[in-house]
Amino acid sequence: MAVQVGDLAGKAVLVTGSSTGIGAAVARGFGAQGMRVAVHGNSNMEQAEQVAADIRAAGGNAAVLRADVRDREACARLVQEAHAALGALDVLVNNAGGVVDRSPIRDATDLLFDQVMALNATSVFACSRAALPIMEAAGGGAIISTTSLAARNGGGGRSVLYAAAKGFVSSFTRGLAKEVARFNIRVNAVAPGVIDKPNKSWTTPPHQVEAALRMTPMRRQGTVEECVGAYLYLASGELSSFVTGQVIEVNGGLYMP
Ligand code: NAD
Repeated sequence: MAVQVGDLAGKAVLVTGSSTGIGAAVARGFGAQGMRVAVHGNSNMEQAEQVAADIRAAGGNAAVLRADVRDREACARLVQEAHAALGALDVLVNNAGGVVDRSPIRDATDLLFDQVMALNATSVFACSRAALPIMEAAGGGAIISTTSLAARNGGGGRSVLYAAAKGFVSSFTRGLAKEVARFNIRVNAVAPGVIDKPNKSWTTPPHQVEAALRMTPMRRQGTVEECVGAYLYLASGELSSFVTGQVIEVNGGLYMP
């Protein structure tokens, strides 16, 4: 992205789930702004290293960290490690997440429920909780979480648990924004619609993607790069100083039917 946002250069950001997909694009986007970026991966550390290498090759500064964000203690450690590696933590992006598996609710196992909630909801709570004292002590900061269109429309077929976990992320964003506004910490979220990921590892069946596209005024999927601007905007105090508790929809005009 050629656009430079004045106040981001030199700031420190942790992007969870930034080895692939939207998170990788966001990490690269922040790196291109001259930010110090903690790239985070779990099962795919080679890809995390590659994202960090890309950021460094473009003149940026990047550290690579590993954690399973389904584990609350691992989340706390991850945030502490990012703070230590970067020397500050101005922005936290809670991006790691995913559908895990699809199931009608009557057949959904306790294990699936626990896994979906741990990955998408617990991680956002645990990483945010760990970042708050750091940001409070520093005089402010920005937390941005990746929610989903699913939080509004209940999700595509057999992904109710995912949609409900993302509903948690959207509500958590609004509530936490109110709680920490007095510490100059802004809390917002980005809700992607149907985004075409480079690695195509998503679990959305093709017929569901086609159905969504029929309802999308722009008649196409978005790209991960097209998500980046919303994160830059929400991270920048210069651009969004009076914006908190908001969910920015990046979906080509696809609203709840
Ligand atoms: P992705 O699979 O490329 O990214 C998910 C990231 O989460 C990966 O980098 C992965 O390493 C990380 N992750 C998964 N399980 C983890 C664990 N246990 N511990 C640590 N990290 C873990 O897919 P994506 O589409 O880029 O997803 C990024 C975010 O965007 C997710 O929160 C997803 O729910 C959300 N989202 C995606 C779309 C879309 O259409 N692609 C739409 C709406 C929301």
